[in-house]
Amino acid sequence: METRRSSSEETRADLVITNAKVITVDKDFNIRQAVAVKDGIITAVGTDDEVRPFIGPSTRVLDLKGKPVLPGINEAHMHAPFFGATRPPLALDLTYPVIQSIPDMAAALRQKVTEVEPGEWIRGFGWDQATLEECKNDPTRLPRKYDIDPVSRNNPAVFTDFSGHTLLANSKALELAGISRDTPDPDSGEMERDPATGEPTGIFKELVAHALISRSVPLLTREEKKKAVLTTLDHLRANGVTSYTDAAIGPGGEMYVYGVMSAEFIDIYKELLKEGNLTARVNVLLLFGEYGALTLEDLRRNIESFKVPADVDKAWLTFPGVKIFADGIPPTMTSWMNEDYVSGGHGTSVLPGKTEQEQRDQLIEMITYVHSNGYQVGVHATGDRAIDTAVDGFVRACEKVSGGDPRHYIIHGDFISQEKAKALAGINCGIAMQPYIGVMISDYVPAIIGKERAAYEWPARTVLDAGANLTSSSDAPVTYPNWRLGVQAAVLREGRVSGRVSGPEECISVNEAIRTYTINGAWQDHMEDVKGSIEVGKFADLCVIGEDILTVDPHKIGEIPVLMTIVGGRIVFDKEG
Ligand SMILES: [Zn+2]
Repeated sequence: METRRSSSEETRADLVITNAKVITVDKDFNIRQAVAVKDGIITAVGTDDEVRPFIGPSTRVLDLKGKPVLPGINEAHMHAPFFGATRPPLALDLTYPVIQSIPDMAAALRQKVTEVEPGEWIRGFGWDQATLEECKNDPTRLPRKYDIDPVSRNNPAVFTDFSGHTLLANSKALELAGISRDTPDPDSGEMERDPATGEPTGIFKELVAHALISRSVPLLTREEKKKAVLTTLDHLRANGVTSYTDAAIGPGGEMYVYGVMSAEFIDIYKELLKEGNLTARVNVLLLFGEYGALTLEDLRRNIESFKVPADVDKAWLTFPGVKIFADGIPPTMTSWMNEDYVSGGHGTSVLPGKTEQEQRDQLIEMITYVHSNGYQVGVHATGDRAIDTAVDGFVRACEKVSGGDPRHYIIHGDFISQEKAKALAGINCGIAMQPYIGVMISDYVPAIIGKERAAYEWPARTVLDAGANLTSSSDAPVTYPNWRLGVQAAVLREGRVSGRVSGPEECISVNEAIRTYTINGAWQDHMEDVKGSIEVGKFADLCVIGEDILTVDPHKIGEIPVLMTIVGGRIVFDKEG
C-alpha cells in the first residue's frame, strides 16, 4: 500500500473508490483495489481495507463492484477545435457507418439544404472512400461534384474526407471560389480534372490545392470556435480522455479549414480554464507557419514574436512544442518515401526547396532552430524518407545544442525503420502513432505501396523493442477519439473492412497498448511525474470502464463502454448521469 501521509483527520479523502480493479499502469503494472483522492491528488492506492481509513463523514465513496479503473487517457496527438468543427452542429456528419454510399452522402446534403438559407455554405466531414459502396473496390472512383450537384444547386458545399487530405466541392462552391477549367493547377497537390474536358471534378487533393476553395469558405466566428472546443470536450469526457495534445494551433492556422487552427484558440482555452469548463489538460503544439507550407522564415518571425501565456495554470494548459510538416499521407501517395509507389514516383515533401537535398537541409535547419529556442518539436512524417530526415534533424539538433530534455517526436511515423527507432531512443525522443488509422487503411494500401511495406506500416513492436517512447492517439478528426478501438487495433492489426491481419509481427500486447495511451503520453508531455498512472502524489485523473480490458476477447475491446471520467478528482462524466 502506498499513502501520502499517515491517515488522520486532515487526510480524510474527498473521494474514495473501493471494490475496483485498479489498473495502476505503474512500473510493474500492479493491480490494486482502491484509491483515495484529496484536493485533486491521489493520496492512497491499495486494498479496500488499506484505503478505508481515508473515508471520513464527508467523503464521497464509489463502490465500483469490481469494474476496472485506468489512469485518465492521454490523446497524444489530435486536433480539438478541428474535431469539434467537423461534428454536428457545425458540420454534416459524413463518417462511416452514418454514410455508406455516395447516395447516402447526397441524401444527407439534400436534408441539410432544407434546413439552411439558400446561398449558405454547408460543411461536411469524414467521408472515406474505403467504406463508400461505389468506391471500395475501385480506387479510381471518388465522390465528385456530379454526385452532389443535383441536390445542392443553390448552396455551396465542401466535404472534407476523414483524413483531411482530400476535399470535395460542389459546383456552387466552385463557382463562388471562381474556379473553372481555366484555373491553373495548384503548386502542389492536385485539382482533379475530367480527362476529356479539363473541367474540375470538385476533388482537391492536399492542402495547397484545398486553399483554392477553402479561402472562399467563411471562417468560423469566435462563438463557433468556442462551440467547436466545447463539442470536443464533450466527446472526450465521454471517452475517458483527461489529457490531450492539440497538435497545431497558432498564427499559421488562421486560414486552414475555416480557421480551425487559428491562434484565437489560445485565448479560448484560457477562457475555458478560467470558467472551469476545461475538462481535460491541454498541451499545445504551436503552428508557426501556414499549414503544410511552413518555412524557416515563418518560424523565425513567429518564435521571436510569440509570447508563451504566462498567467495560466501549467497543470491544465501548456505550450511546450512546435509543429513542423515534412510530407503528406500514404493513401494519396504524398508520403515522402525512399522507394517508389506501385504506380511510380516516391511522393513529395511539403518542405520548401527546389531539390530534395534542399528540402532535406531545410527540415534539419528548421528542427535545429526550433530546438535551440527551447521548444519540443513534433514533426509530421509518414514516408520513410521524411522520417529518416526528421530523425537525422533531431540527432543533429541534440548534438549541436546539448542539454535539456526536449523529447522531440515523430508524428505518425508509418514506416520508421528499426535503425531510426533506435536513434530516437538514443536521444530520448519518441513517436506518436495512430493504430486505428492503421486498420482503416490496411485493406487498400497494399495496392498503393506493395504488400511488404503495407504489412510493416505502423511498426509499434519495432518501436517498443528499440526502446523509443511510443504514444497512441486518434488524430481526431481523422478517427473518432475512442481509444478502446485504438488498443484493439494495436493488439490485433485487423483491417476494419476485411478483418485481415496486416503484419502480425508488429502487434503489441494490451498492457503495452494501455501504456501508449497513458504513461507514455504523460512522458511526451514531460509530466510523467504528475500524471499517466494511478500512484500516490499524481493528479486524480481516472477512467472507469465497463469490462475487464485485460481479460476480455481483444475483438471486443473497441466496444467497452466508458462509465466515468474523473479529472483532478472531479467527476466530469458519469454514464449513469
Ligand atoms: Zn494530426
